[in-house]
Amino acid sequence: TPTHSTNNHDPGLSLSSSTEPAIVRVAVRLRPRNAEDLLSDADCVEIQPELKRLNLKKNNWSSEAYRFDEVFSESASQRRVYEAVAKPVVESVLSGYNGTVMAYGQTGTGKTYTLGRLGKDDASERGIMVRAMEDIIANTSSSDSIEISYLQLYLESIQDLLSPEKINIPIFEEPKTGKVTLPGALVVKIRDLDHFSQVLQTGEANRHVANTKLNTESSRSHAILMVNIRRAVHEEQNEIPFHEKDGKGNLSYDRSLPIVRNSKLLIVDLAGSEGHSVEEAKFINLSLTSLRKCINALAENSPHIPFRDSKLTRLLRDSFGGFARTSLVVTIGPSSRHHAESTSTIMFGQRAMKVVNVLRLKEE
Ligand code: ADP
Repeated sequence: TPTHSTNNHDPGLSLSSSTEPAIVRVAVRLRPRNAEDLLSDADCVEIQPELKRLNLKKNNWSSEAYRFDEVFSESASQRRVYEAVAKPVVESVLSGYNGTVMAYGQTGTGKTYTLGRLGKDDASERGIMVRAMEDIIANTSSSDSIEISYLQLYLESIQDLLSPEKINIPIFEEPKTGKVTLPGALVVKIRDLDHFSQVLQTGEANRHVANTKLNTESSRSHAILMVNIRRAVHEEQNEIPFHEKDGKGNLSYDRSLPIVRNSKLLIVDLAGSEGHSVEEAKFINLSLTSLRKCINALAENSPHIPFRDSKLTRLLRDSFGGFARTSLVVTIGPSSRHHAESTSTIMFGQRAMKVVNVLRLKEE
């Protein structure tokens, strides 16, 4: 059957006023104390979840308060974190927009726990990737397609975690639509949640092998799960108006045709944010540095957003801002040995909170 193809990145597309402004939702999550934290000195943060506020110790006698969209204490469940952080993004991806969920923070503070935990023995431990897929499967039908790729980005090279011999996968950007794809990456069509968990597990195992070979730690690479959803939507379900201009400049669409909606969800487990002088960071993690620069530029409403500077920011380009939904979880450790890193992580989160309206038109 002939179909229209909608595309949610077209800046010329007029969307209804019910569309929420493109904001980056930012949550902070505190990792529970571990044995090492218990041995070491005092805590350096105090969490007030009801006030969505976090107090960070500055020194022995004063602290600074920061507000976030959500503040999760060490006892927050995986389910609560999913529902507050990722579910709104998943819902908007299901209705045809692109979206991104990212975790940022020092190594060992719970990024992978938050995003990638499989929870095989205990479903309550499942992280955002599995829960997102569960929701996607529950809200699509067998005529829709769900496809994933799973990648690792290290030293500006994209490696396929589902087919690890594929390295240096190029990023392709469709000139007309701005749609970002990875034509070289293996695409796996997901049948059910068990299948997804298996694929993810294979990816994790490959990641481990690849990093052992390269003698790198996974904390220095970004893991990127890309979920592409393709849905045939009939008119009555089609709450997003898809318009085409007729000869007279009026907007219309052919009601007899099903509309195919393509949308993409990116779940990004970022490299550890710690350490490294500026010079070092340029080499080790250009992508993380570039992400920080983009967030700063967006927060300052700068006319130029340097999305083109790194692989990560190029990949995020059609899934970050504009009409796309983005959530960021920043993770911190509890003890004062984490103080310096927690401070810079919180500052990054605060800057991301300032990103209000990220129209792609601003990029050039
Ligand atoms: P990162 O990805 O930031 O390096 P991890 O997710 O690997 O950190 O977490 C480090 C350790 O802390 C892991 O053993 C993980 O299981 C544990 N952990 C992190 N967050 C939590 C949490 N909210 N509840 C229980 N354990 C956690």
